[in-house]
Amino acid sequence: MIPVMRPVLGEEEAQAAAEAVRSGWVAQGPRVASFEEAFSARVGARHGVAVSSCTTALHLAVHLLDIGPGDEVVVPSLSFIATANAVRYCGATPVFADVDATTGNLTAETVEPVITDRTRAVLVVHQAGVPADVKALRALCGPLGIPVIEDAACAAGSTYLGAPVGTGALLAAWSFHPRKLLTTGEGGMLTTDDPEWSVRGRRLREHGMSVSAADRHSGGGSVVEEYLETAFNYRMTDIQAAVGIVQLSRLDSIVARRRELAAKYHEMLADVPGLRMVRDPAWGTTNYQSFWVRLPDDCPLPRNEVLAALASSGVSARRGIMASHLEPAYAGHPHAPLPATEDFTGRTLILPLFHDMTDAEQHQVSEALTTALSGVAVS
Ligand SMILES: *Cc1c(COP(=O)(O)O)cnc(C)c1O
Repeated sequence: MIPVMRPVLGEEEAQAAAEAVRSGWVAQGPRVASFEEAFSARVGARHGVAVSSCTTALHLAVHLLDIGPGDEVVVPSLSFIATANAVRYCGATPVFADVDATTGNLTAETVEPVITDRTRAVLVVHQAGVPADVKALRALCGPLGIPVIEDAACAAGSTYLGAPVGTGALLAAWSFHPRKLLTTGEGGMLTTDDPEWSVRGRRLREHGMSVSAADRHSGGGSVVEEYLETAFNYRMTDIQAAVGIVQLSRLDSIVARRRELAAKYHEMLADVPGLRMVRDPAWGTTNYQSFWVRLPDDCPLPRNEVLAALASSGVSARRGIMASHLEPAYAGHPHAPLPATEDFTGRTLILPLFHDMTDAEQHQVSEALTTALSGVAVS
């Protein structure tokens, strides 16, 4: 089977992890601090707070805004479910806004109708790595005093208005799950330019401690910590960070390779009538974290049968981006109509795209899809 994604992991990552183990310091320590510095600099932010996942980074972002019961946060339903869940973790209400059909992202036009006097933030997602038009959202939300925060889980290496996604973000949350471009097994980061949020973010990930465990140990054990607020254990380990530092050094080549493979898909599938493919928007470049295609309106097969046809041709594709409001966890959760979201989630699928994908594998995917869409494969 041709997999949908395969992480880029080499001997260097294995060595780095082994060195962390041999050093005897495996919990959050000096390697986490180095990874935070290098990653935040790469995405154009002053501070990075490494955490256990993007989900926990999102939780901290909403928590840092002191959002709670009675408050609303606008999110896309069209996202991995952790986006909406982060709002619920704080006792607040996620309010689903529809997305733009070409990018799969929130826009000022889709967010504006769902803003109320309870809206305390907009959580925009750079879905599948495609940069959202954050400036337009800030222009809408700024005058209303509503902060715009970013779920950049998929977007390491994407650009917006000529700078890395993350540049100038109030708060951005990143993922290092193997399904993303960079991986530490599990892991995440919160980035911000605000020194106070970075200090409190560090404290919130570590039980609310006044002195981090790492500083306490290097201080010779004479420092007694206090617990300043009720917080969490969302720490990243130094083993993960050691891998992350090596991964980060590969980011440029990973993005370049993904963009090269995506350009080949655009060429190979250009003649399939009515097929729409993920592309760069006018304001930036995507890292092609996911190469999604939207099936033609007159597609002879339902999406799931296209997936089955691909699977029987040795191609492991995936349904497109999920819609949270259609999941049992959000049954009965009120929302405005979400026509573009429902079209997107029902009619898109994600094709295999990974760093060491061969030309032959890409042709196999392209032929399997073309055959499935022509209806010939139905037997
Ligand atoms: C993957 C993903 C997450 C969750 O990331 P984890 O690191 O697995 O917690 C959140 N939001 C989006 C948009 C994602 O794609």
